[in-house]
Amino acid sequence: MAGRALTALSEDEALFRDSVYEFADREIRPLVREMDEHAKIPRALIDKLFDLGVMAIEIPETYGGAGATFFHSVLAVEALSRVDPSIAVLVDVQNTLVINALLRWGQEEMKRRYLPRLASNAVGAYALSEAGSGSDAFAMAARAAERDGDWVLRGRKLWITNGNEADIFMVFANINPEAGYRGITAFIVERGADGFTVGKKEDKLGIRASSTCELIFEDCRVPRANVLGEVGKGYKVAIETLNEGRIGIGAQMIGIADGALGHAIKYTKERQQFGKPIAEFQAVQHQLARAATEIAAARLLVYNAARLRDNRRPFLTEAAMCKIFSSEVAERVTSLAVNLFGGYGFVKDYPVEKLYRDAKIGQIYEGTSNLQLQTIAKQLLG
Ligand SMILES: Cc1cc2nc3c(=O)[nH]c(=O)nc-3n(C[C@H](O)[C@H](O)[C@H](O)COP(=O)(O)OP(=O)(O)OC[C@H]3O[C@@H](n4cnc5c(N)ncnc54)[C@H](O)[C@@H]3O)c2cc1C
Repeated sequence: MAGRALTALSEDEALFRDSVYEFADREIRPLVREMDEHAKIPRALIDKLFDLGVMAIEIPETYGGAGATFFHSVLAVEALSRVDPSIAVLVDVQNTLVINALLRWGQEEMKRRYLPRLASNAVGAYALSEAGSGSDAFAMAARAAERDGDWVLRGRKLWITNGNEADIFMVFANINPEAGYRGITAFIVERGADGFTVGKKEDKLGIRASSTCELIFEDCRVPRANVLGEVGKGYKVAIETLNEGRIGIGAQMIGIADGALGHAIKYTKERQQFGKPIAEFQAVQHQLARAATEIAAARLLVYNAARLRDNRRPFLTEAAMCKIFSSEVAERVTSLAVNLFGGYGFVKDYPVEKLYRDAKIGQIYEGTSNLQLQTIAKQLLG
């Protein structure tokens, strides 16, 4: 689309983004505070997300999905994050990790079994991290061994988003530790499988409504047909899916920042001090202008990475840059919003303290900021 801004949307993209935002404003916003306090997403709301079509954005229509692009997922995550980043991460993991990996690595029979369910009512989760292996994910302790033609999983996963809501879990375990990362294999495990339990849910600083759980596998039998991709190639599934997924986290971060800026603009136009709205003070205007500029720059990085990915062009460095930059922008802009609300910014009656807490996770999951810098530096230094 020569001559157009990178952020220009097609008519279909703009309609989609606007419909997701209108939904979030109408159906999610009234529930945000309660969901944060109770650290829970009502199932009825998840059902509405399925009805809206945002739980199966890239799934082809033949399997019951919307048949749209990765860029649409990015738009949905951004729009939802303006209202509630917890709902956004549920949608993000479903689309940019679970469905994305199934579409790319799943055999036809596996796609026929799982994609229609993911498109209609099943939430997915992506289980790589463990207590002892986060950044060094390939050092995982989870093991899988062959028994009577099936696989048997043993081990524990930690920090798994959607753990409480998911029916379909993508789980990584090593079948041959002597082969190092070349033993890592990806499996699909269903809720209710013998030997599989969802353990403790974490009590968190931010994105509190999103469940983050431990998963426990004690001789959990997984059918041979549930290996995703090739045995011993799970490391590729893990790394390549996360390379794409972190663009979704970038989208979550620009949504958070944009949401906070919107609140700050509205508030500073209303709040009077020294006989006039505080938005009339030049110092405040400059702070708002800087925040808007940073968000625009972050959005360019996120959209660029997403469009490169959809066009099958290299995007690894761009994805790392978009995540680190947009997560830092989200932290700065939400902090500014708290400042501009003054004392009201510090209390839960106003929305900005929550967005400030929610922003922090962007520098941690799907590769910490140090890991993103490592990816960028590797490319720079050859
Ligand atoms: C709310 C939440 C949701 C999550 N959801 C999921 C999920 O759905 N699925 C999943 O698999 N995981 C999930 N995670 C796990 C997340 O991806 C990890 O927490 C993250 O990768 C960091 O791993 P760690 O916590 O073990 O930290 P560590 O790897 O121990 O890192 C600690 C610190 O050391 C630094 N560090 C580590 N190695 C290096 C290095 N080589 N060079 C420089 N600095 C380094 C890190 O940058 C960090 O600052 C989630 C985590 C949270 C908190």
